[in-house]
Amino acid sequence: MQTLLPQELLNVWEQGTVWPAAVRALKLLALAFPKRSLQELEKMCIGERDSLLLMLREETFGSHLVCLAVCRDCNERMEVAFSVQDILVDPAIKTGEVLSIAVSGYEVWYRLVCGQDLIAIAGIEDPTKARSILLDRCILAVRYNNENISEYHPVDELPIDVLNAVVDGMEQADPQADVQISLTCSSCGQQWQASFDIVSFFWSEIDNWAHRILRDVHTLARAYGWSESDILEMSPLRRQIYLEMASE
Ligand SMILES: [Zn+2]
Repeated sequence: MQTLLPQELLNVWEQGTVWPAAVRALKLLALAFPKRSLQELEKMCIGERDSLLLMLREETFGSHLVCLAVCRDCNERMEVAFSVQDILVDPAIKTGEVLSIAVSGYEVWYRLVCGQDLIAIAGIEDPTKARSILLDRCILAVRYNNENISEYHPVDELPIDVLNAVVDGMEQADPQADVQISLTCSSCGQQWQASFDIVSFFWSEIDNWAHRILRDVHTLARAYGWSESDILEMSPLRRQIYLEMASE
């Protein structure tokens, strides 16, 4: 993994303002893992993709994560802190591995959802339609009473309990794709689970960082006449010391 330079991070942030989340994830990984092809990164299952993003986040902003949560019961706002290591899960299976289930006389072979699938459904607002497209892409073959029926439209024709079993199988095989954080309200004691999505979390941090660093560039350029690239190439420590002196 390569450490992202400030200029690279700024460029991907600027271009990424109009990208869907799945493209942002892909472009960040493409920068950090230049030896891996775009196709290889796109085909990674979501858990593998997210574990790499967690490691990249650790490399970029450190391992300590702080989220804000609001109690469902009493609306108390609270900070939840954990580390990257706390939420990294050992992969149960490898990207590309074929899974299967047998339900109600059906045998279904399928693969896990990958980043390319999420890019394909980006912009589809109807969750039922998006789910159907994902299943259609991930179901590889279907047999009913030992007859191969995969040449038909399996997702449209398969019973709902079979499709639900496929979704359950996907979730169990790729736990890193849906990280759940256990929360307890310090005010009323209410306990619940919340999803943690590394793509939106990391991107919002990058967004905050970009606005902060552009403000620093503005301050230093105005004080000293340096160029943006000169200022971005400085270490954070040196930039901070110049900022303090510029405000004296
Ligand atoms: Zn509460």
